[in-house]
Amino acid sequence: MKIGILSRNAKLYSTRRLVEAAKAAGHEVQVIDALRCYMNINARTPSIHYKGEALEDFDAIIPRIGASVTFYGTAVLRQFETMGVYPLNESVAITRSRDKLRSMQLLAGKGIDMPITGFANKPGDIPDMLDMNSGPPVVIKLLEGTQGIGVVLAETRKAAESVLQAFMGLKANIMVQEYIDEAKGADIRCLVIGDRVWASMKRQAPDGEFRSNLHRGGSAALVRITPEERAVAVRAAKTMGLNVAGVDLLRSSRGPLVLEVNSSPGLEGIEKATGKDVAGGIIAFIEKNARANRTRTRGKG
Ligand code: ADP
Ligand code: MG
Repeated sequence: MKIGILSRNAKLYSTRRLVEAAKAAGHEVQVIDALRCYMNINARTPSIHYKGEALEDFDAIIPRIGASVTFYGTAVLRQFETMGVYPLNESVAITRSRDKLRSMQLLAGKGIDMPITGFANKPGDIPDMLDMNSGPPVVIKLLEGTQGIGVVLAETRKAAESVLQAFMGLKANIMVQEYIDEAKGADIRCLVIGDRVWASMKRQAPDGEFRSNLHRGGSAALVRITPEERAVAVRAAKTMGLNVAGVDLLRSSRGPLVLEVNSSPGLEGIEKATGKDVAGGIIAFIEKNARANRTRTRGKG
């Protein structure tokens, strides 16, 4: 097969591992920087050009679209979809997963449990929204943050009100979440490929921190997950329409709660913590599922 990887940097661990795994399985592979792709949109002969040449005859595209290039990256992926190329994750699913509130609404609609989550637009509505939630402490999040940046713990009602007012004053989109104290600064990352959890790790925040992101100094360890956690993770990825996803769960006293579903999960932390060949699993999934003109959400925005 001829596989394209949409990635800005061929030297990144995840990109390198995917290239390695594709080659090891005998495929032709090209790393494509989405920002260097340009295209004409037309009905008869959709095409994409890259550094002066047409990108043709790809069987599958692996999107590794960073949060800062979501808009252009998903536009390029959509163009590949229009050309009939199989996307590992579809552009619509990636766009959905980038908006934390939209994701939560979709998951809640399917009965998937999560921390109580609130959203308001006017500062005057903050007190009542906090009453609807669990009361302090609460977690306040920017809707489009990643790597733990833009996630704040407000320990008192006063702190929550002032942080919310400050964010609203900056016109930032935010949501408020029940703080899951019993998770003790840990979460579980489940790497879902298709309908199974391929690898899972527990991430623990450093002392004095509640965010377990590895970018925030969290540490990763192998973990055994329960059948319920396994089922929730797979269902969350399916609900978002993602074939490959990093589903983050919190262990709470009322069972596993979904925190977020990442459409371009990093491979380094999880491969190193678990010793599992995630990149190989992704290539195997593509071999089994890639067909031309199979994008389910094509033409559905
Ligand atoms: P990001 O997209 O920036 O990673 P997350 O929503 O995943 O944002 O939050 C970052 C981290 O903060 C999580 O991995 C988790 O450790 C912690 N966290 C987030 N929300 C909660 C919550 N409601 N209760 C307890 N811990 C939380
Ligand atoms: Mg996260």
